[in-house]
Amino acid sequence: RNLVKRFESGGGWLGGQKQIVRAVNDVSFSVARGQSLGLVGESGCGKSTVARTLLRLIEPDEGSIVFDGQDIRQASAQAMRALRRRIQIVFQDPYASLNPRRTVRQALAEPLYVHKMGNARQIAEKVDQAISEVGLPLSALDRYPHEFSGGQRQRIGIARALVLDPELIVADEPVSALDVSVQAQILQLMERLKRDRGLSFVFVSHDLGVVRHFCDTVCVMYLGRIIEHGPTGQVLDHPLHPYSRVLRDSSPVPDPEARIRLARIEGEIPAPTHLPPGCTFHPRCARAEANCAQQVPPLNVLAAGRSAACFYPLLEEAALAG
Ligand code: SF4
Ligand code: MG
Repeated sequence: RNLVKRFESGGGWLGGQKQIVRAVNDVSFSVARGQSLGLVGESGCGKSTVARTLLRLIEPDEGSIVFDGQDIRQASAQAMRALRRRIQIVFQDPYASLNPRRTVRQALAEPLYVHKMGNARQIAEKVDQAISEVGLPLSALDRYPHEFSGGQRQRIGIARALVLDPELIVADEPVSALDVSVQAQILQLMERLKRDRGLSFVFVSHDLGVVRHFCDTVCVMYLGRIIEHGPTGQVLDHPLHPYSRVLRDSSPVPDPEARIRLARIEGEIPAPTHLPPGCTFHPRCARAEANCAQQVPPLNVLAAGRSAACFYPLLEEAALAG
């Protein structure tokens, strides 16, 4: 709720003036049990920063993060340990988060020992179960990360998140580094886990095709703010915010035979240190009017379950769509 994260930029020994950048600017959303919510946007929009605040890998400057009724930011050290078990992260590059000198078995067992999740035999059972659940043979446990392909390593990364029986998984570009065919397999795996375990996901991605496949709802971010939120299919088929539409139209077509760019987003993303006044999208927006450069449009509910931060949303298209 109302997350704000500021970073200092510039200055230091290189000289220049230090500036405060609002990397995340009043971001609010919720994700229901068993649902997946996508955070999408171009690089630098703040989606990964938001995701990391959910695990307190980054401390927000303002706002609250409520998990199952508990405010994570107010939690005692003891309560936080329990929360750290219930919320797990899957990274884009599992290789970077796996110690190359440790076997898969050691990598999977470690969090169980840290959280004191049973005796040695129980831990061994949980490790066996997790590696099977992600579709790898038990023999994988005695091998090292470098012996696996990218897709297999991502399975190991997911298994490591699963051993602790989490309820929420924060996945930051989990398939972006993988080949398209492998992406589909990993998405299917996550889909199955979501269904079978009732897992919730916060899924960070710049790839709208992947988000369409996996996410029930989506938040589109631009320069630190959520500018549109709604059911994924509706947002991507009939965006209300002009930025959502250009983002969608500039995405590669999912059909690999036709991987062409449909449109280009006009203009550059402004530097976060030099945010335009008013609606930060106005320098690139075909629908901008004079007031767009002066006032910040609030994120308003425009239809059931759908909101957008725009003074002149694309209501006609959404209405035409029925
Ligand atoms: Fe474009 Fe104005 Fe809407 Fe911003 S508020 S997206 S500039 S029409
Ligand atoms: Mg990122």
